[in-house]
Amino acid sequence: MVEPWLEDIMASYNQDSFDARNSYAAQLHMPGEIFQNLVWWALKSLPDEILVGLDIDFNQQQNSEVDEFFASTQQVEGLFQGQGYLINEAHIVNRGDSYSVHHLPEDWTDDIFAPSRGARAGRFTHWLHTHPNAPAIPSGADADASQETPGVDLILGLRFSPSGPLPWFDDVEGKRRILGKEAVSSDNHASKKSLFRNKNLPVIGIAPSGHVIHEVQLIAFHKSGLGVNVIFTDDDKLPYGWNQLSSNNS
Ligand SMILES: [Zn+2]
Repeated sequence: MVEPWLEDIMASYNQDSFDARNSYAAQLHMPGEIFQNLVWWALKSLPDEILVGLDIDFNQQQNSEVDEFFASTQQVEGLFQGQGYLINEAHIVNRGDSYSVHHLPEDWTDDIFAPSRGARAGRFTHWLHTHPNAPAIPSGADADASQETPGVDLILGLRFSPSGPLPWFDDVEGKRRILGKEAVSSDNHASKKSLFRNKNLPVIGIAPSGHVIHEVQLIAFHKSGLGVNVIFTDDDKLPYGWNQLSSNNS
């Protein structure tokens, strides 16, 4: 079960993905159920960042109608491994600070992963790591680590309270992709807001860990630096907000 507030912001992200489709070289469909786990894991693992390996199912292609709908004039076929296939599994592989999170612990690099596969080893197709209380914008270390990735790299940025030892860090240049911008100024959360120090921050949802979530960001990129467009999909492999998207834009 995916939380309704998360479905809402995934739907508005999908609208943004559609509007900006021609600035991307490829698309990646992210199942909402898996994405929800990623958000919960990120918050449960604080103050660490986590590195998550994502597997794909070579028996399940992305919905071709959706592929076509989000197709870009800049589309590059065969840009990355697993392009066009559905993500079906996610595993936390490491946790640590922004540097150490990219380096697997020793016991992951022995028999299972050949050392030749690089600093992060290479069993998984895609890799995602988290930026707790920081925007989802790649650092130099992130760009370096992505060179070993056969698929795409993803960064999940979260802004939340209580922030613990991680005050919101915003001094980063780069393009941001925020989920659900329009949810920002709603008054229905006024009673919740007043409980927290930072009173003017929007509350978009509450995690099982008890954290109040103010902002969710997600980006995906290929090691070449090209951006990859993310589309959040439901159990039927259709984008959240599909009815509205397809009727407004057909
Ligand atoms: Zn990073």
